[in-house]
Amino acid sequence: MTALAVALPVAAVRRSPIHGAPLHVVLCMLLALVGLAVGTRVSATLTAAAGAAGAAVTAWLFTQTSYPGAVDVLAAPFGLFTGLAAAPFLPASVRGHARAARPLLQPAALGLTAVVLGFAVFWTGSTNPRVEWFGELHSHGNRSQNLVAITFDDGPNPDGTLAVAQILDEHDAKGTFFEVGKAVVQRPDISRALLDDGHVVGNHSYLHDAVRYLDPRYPELDRAERTIAENTGVCPALFRPPHGTHTPFMSRAVTSRGMNLVTWDVSAQDWVENDPARLAANILAEVRPGSIILLHDGLDGNIPADRSVVVKALPAILDGLKARGLTPVTLDALLGVPAYLPDSQCARYR
Ligand SMILES: [Zn+2]
Repeated sequence: MTALAVALPVAAVRRSPIHGAPLHVVLCMLLALVGLAVGTRVSATLTAAAGAAGAAVTAWLFTQTSYPGAVDVLAAPFGLFTGLAAAPFLPASVRGHARAARPLLQPAALGLTAVVLGFAVFWTGSTNPRVEWFGELHSHGNRSQNLVAITFDDGPNPDGTLAVAQILDEHDAKGTFFEVGKAVVQRPDISRALLDDGHVVGNHSYLHDAVRYLDPRYPELDRAERTIAENTGVCPALFRPPHGTHTPFMSRAVTSRGMNLVTWDVSAQDWVENDPARLAANILAEVRPGSIILLHDGLDGNIPADRSVVVKALPAILDGLKARGLTPVTLDALLGVPAYLPDSQCARYR
């Protein structure tokens, strides 16, 4: 059982969709040993129940998130819970040691369980692109129509964006580009070219970092909106949070401005993929009617990012969609919502 307590976390971390690194496995194993140590000192029933429940919840969380940082946060509690669950199966002589510490450790174990489960709820609600616990979001459109939307995040990008737009045009398709304010400031000409060509531009925050989503006022939304309005004349009504991470406060900020929060249901992690054929195949394996496909014509709004993998994969993705009878449209058309705010509301940003 002890061996299982160590082997299970290793397998889960390594095989999770977010690909745990060896460091995460080590962390997971260490915490499994801590869990075993704590588990030997508290009630067997309590330990087994709390450990098994916690391990099941964290294992499920592994399958629920595409956020790359998730593995950092989930590896430790998963290891700890697995160790706790395995502790009652240790020999009675081992469990008998340090019984004196039990009065203190039992509430500590319960408190820890509550904290970890509370955090798990927050983590899932904020990072899962399909979970609506924290407010309304769109992760896909109508499943009964053969329409999909291809979306491109993190641009504008000098080499990627217009190359992507040209391939879309050659396939009679239009895309939706969620742009980062700090990149729009540097290359407003690319944003304007997209709009002139009939593609849709959305708001993807100003700085695109990993912490500002926690700010309840979420000033990133207006900052990017103002930048896009000043440089292109339009105010996007479609907002995609960086990394898909969202909070109830952010949801309220978005809906109170008459905007829609949009995530996705198809991603092949094109920010780490370097094989265009595999990227296209992975997208096509997941796509179905109503899907919102996530791709990146930029990376974090960094102007020099190399996005040739997406440029190379896109023709195969478009051909594959056509072969499946799926027509790519812009997000506003897929969801039946406006792409831009009306002039009366946009005036305050210009
Ligand atoms: Zn992004």
